[in-house]
Formats: sequence, C-alpha cells, structure tokens
Amino acid sequence: MTIRLHPLTQVRTWQVLFVQDCNLRCSYCSSGFGTYGIQKGLMEPRAWKDFVSLAVHHAPEEAPVRFEFGGGETFLHYDEFLQAIEYLRDKFNVRHVPVEIHVTTNGTLLNPARLRTLAGMGVSLAFSIDGPPDVHDAKRRTVGGMDSHALAMQNWRRYSKLSRKSPEKPACKVHSVITDASRLRHVLNFWIQEGLTVVETAVQWPRNATRASLTQFKRRQQQYLEDLRQWAFQFAKEHWAEEFLSRYQGSLDLFSLWKKMFFQEISKPCGAGEQIMAVDRKGGLYPCELLMMSGQLKIGDAAEGIFPESYRSFLKEKNKCRVSCKTCVARKCCPGSCMAGVPYQTLQKNFSSGCWFAKELYKIAFRSYKILLQSKHEN
Ligand code: SF4
Ligand code: SF4
Ligand code: SF4
Repeated sequence: MTIRLHPLTQVRTWQVLFVQDCNLRCSYCSSGFGTYGIQKGLMEPRAWKDFVSLAVHHAPEEAPVRFEFGGGETFLHYDEFLQAIEYLRDKFNVRHVPVEIHVTTNGTLLNPARLRTLAGMGVSLAFSIDGPPDVHDAKRRTVGGMDSHALAMQNWRRYSKLSRKSPEKPACKVHSVITDASRLRHVLNFWIQEGLTVVETAVQWPRNATRASLTQFKRRQQQYLEDLRQWAFQFAKEHWAEEFLSRYQGSLDLFSLWKKMFFQEISKPCGAGEQIMAVDRKGGLYPCELLMMSGQLKIGDAAEGIFPESYRSFLKEKNKCRVSCKTCVARKCCPGSCMAGVPYQTLQKNFSSGCWFAKELYKIAFRSYKILLQSKHEN
C-alpha cells in the first residue's frame, strides 16, 4: 500500500535528475554519466507533472523551496528545461510559495544567449571545474575525447559578470573535485588567482567498493587533510579572528567551520529523506541524489507518494548511523558525515568512514581557530 504522507511537507530542497545523460565522459564519474543505473534520457513529461503536483501539494507554508537540477547535464535539453521551470513556477505561484532554481553544470553546452536568458530568469549555476586546465582536462573530456576546460571557464566568467548585473541576483559558483591528478593547495591557488575567495571543493569519491578504489580514496582524503592543515595554520598565524571573515581565501570546508566556531552556530544534521529529497527522471523518489546509487533506497514515487515501509526503514538506518553523534566532541560544529559514497556499501559503513574524515576536518579547524584567537591578543 502506498499513501501520501506528511514527511514531504518538510522538504526544503528537491534534487531533480531532469536529464540523466551527459556529454562528458569524466574518468572518475561514479553516476554512470548521470544515469545512476537507469536508462539514459530526459525526464518523462508525465513524471514531471506528477512530481510538480506532489511538490506543490506538500510545499511548506511560505518558505522558499529550492530545486537543484543535476545528476547528468541538464543543458543537454536546454529548451525542455526552460519549459519545465516555467511550468513549475506557475504552479508554485498559485500557492504563493517562492522557488529557487539551481543547476549544477559542466558548463560546456552554454553560450552567451543561453547565459543571458538564464541570468534573466534568476537561475543559479554551479560550474563543475576542477581547477587548472591540465588537471581538469586530464579527467573531464567530452564523449569525442575533446578538452572541456576552456569552454567551461569561458562560460563561468561570462555568468559571473551576468549574474552580478542581473536584478534577479542568481548565484554563480564553482565546485572542484580534488582528484588523484591534483592537490587541494594548487586548486585553491588557481581559483584565488581567478578572483575567488571561498572555494567549494570535495575529494573524488571512490568509483566502487573494491579494495584498490577504497585505498586510493583514503590516500586522496589524507592528502586533502594535509594540504588543508597547512593552509589553515598558515592563515591562522597571519590573521586575527575577526579578520578572517573579510580577508579569508581558501576552502569552503575550513571557512564554514571557522564561521560556526566564531558565531557559535550549531551544525545541521544531514537532511536526506527529511529536508532533502531527490527525484529521478521516471518519478522515483529517493532520500537524496547520492543515495540513488543504491537502487534499494527508492522510498516513493511522484505519482503515488511515499512508500511508508521503505521510508520508515530508511529513517531507522539513518538514526542508527547518528547514534554516535550524541556523545561526539565534534557534534556542535561537525562538518557532517555522509551515508552515501560507496554504492553497495551499507549506510553505516559509509557513515563511519565519512565520520573519520569529518572528525579530522573538525580537529584541523578547531586547533587552527585557537591560533586565530591567540594572534588577536598578540597583535
Ligand atoms: S559531468 Fe558529471 S555526470 Fe557528466 S561525466 Fe562528468 S562527473 Fe559524470
Ligand atoms: S564527527 Fe561523526 S559522530 Fe561526530 S558529530 Fe560528526 S558525524 Fe557525528
Ligand atoms: S550528507 Fe550524504 S547522505 Fe546526506 S544529503 Fe548529503 S549526500 Fe545525501
């Protein structure tokens, strides 16, 4: 039996796999080029209508609802995307609930006219660009084997300017994966030279659960932490605590943790299946995009709503993962551990390995933050 349940009323972020296909063939891609194991293609019109109706019906009162388009490359179907968001906005306008549209893109299917339209419509873009050209092009090539860096950078620069001028003020971000061909410090330096101050980065995930893949992942995590540690302590020795807000240059990971410590903000736990939900192109509902990898985590359908049993069983697993958080020293500022990651590995196993990384990030941030505080008194 399937019924529509209230859990959907708390969803603030919908991750939408509108296009499950891609024009790139990144060697580290772990989503099957956006397909997540289902037949590639565009969102089925019936599924889109069912999904919009479900999201509108359960929209939280007054709060904005965020729609994050990603997974594959949405702009493979640019015109259909524009029609889809117009339809979505019309339906939400009736309920007077504001919507925010975000797209993660590889940036290679855009051009000045498309970018102008997107800026005018207030669509926020996050460009996936892995830093310097050699590092990016070593991993991120087109289906035909061509480089993708130059075009992606050109479009990112164009959108940075357009978004600043647009009255809609859409965001324009970049996101860099730190691969086995790169180091965090080089990627940060590249973006700082490009004029960014806070850079969003993530360690390249393992492609599968083989021993070799997991060992390489651990090595990348260790190198990432090593670079972050050096970066954090160097900055902390040279600046005052108050200064880091205006003079910070570096990774978002560290900046977010220092900000939480400075303003004594409490971390929010992972929102998968609660504040966050994902929908695939056939209308399948999942706790979040990355948890689509494991096909067993389908917890509903756009036409039918939540499957109560699957939903309850997911929440039970999620709560088991969180037990250790109750007594953890890092719990107030924890950068968060992820239950996804390695497909076909249990949620708890993924969570424990993410937890190790989260604790290390926390330790680096906490110790360097203490130095930031000290330098304030000494100067
Ligand atoms: S752009 Fe994203 S979805 Fe496409 S191949 Fe690269 S990592 Fe995979
Ligand atoms: S480090 Fe791990 S156990 Fe501690 S709060 Fe974060 S996720 Fe929970
Ligand atoms: S932390 Fe991991 S499991 Fe939670 S929402 Fe993010 S990707 Fe999904």
